[in-house]
Amino acid sequence: MSNHRLQGAIEALKTTRVRMTPQRHAILEYLFESMTHPTADEIYKALEGRFPNMSVATVYNNLRVFKEAGIVKELTYGDSSSRFDCVTSDHYHVICEECGKIVDFHYPGLDEVETLAEHVTGFKVSSHRMEIYGICPDCQKKSQH
Ligand SMILES: [Zn+2]
Ligand SMILES: [Zn+2]
Repeated sequence: MSNHRLQGAIEALKTTRVRMTPQRHAILEYLFESMTHPTADEIYKALEGRFPNMSVATVYNNLRVFKEAGIVKELTYGDSSSRFDCVTSDHYHVICEECGKIVDFHYPGLDEVETLAEHVTGFKVSSHRMEIYGICPDCQKKSQH
C-alpha cells in the first residue's frame, strides 16, 4: 500500500523538473515506509549508513524540493525542527506529549467547520489545522512498568 503511494510520488516527480537520484529515492522511501512524520535529522540518521557523503543539509534541501513539487508537507511547530509528512490528502494529527510521535487520522466531518466559519465571519476560508494531544499506546505501556 505504501509502496503504491511511493510509486505515485515518483510519478508525480517525473512531471516536474526534479531529477530522481538514489539519495532522493531513499529519502522518499523512508518517508513513505516509516509513516512517522520524521524530522530531517531523523531521516539523516536512518540513511547515513547508506550515504556516507550525505549531510543533514542535503536531506533538508531534498525535502524542500519534494515540498515544492507538492509530494510532502512540512509541519512546523514553532520550535526546533520541522517534521515532514508524505500524505498530502487532508488528515489530522494526534501527537504524543511524551515521545512526540505523530499519528494520522481522518475526520472528513470537520470540513463543515470551514463553511461555518465563512458564514459566521465573512472570511474566505482557505484551510484549517487541528491537532489532538495525548499519550500514545507505547508510552502508556512504558509508564505502567
Ligand atoms: Zn509516545
Ligand atoms: Zn500526517
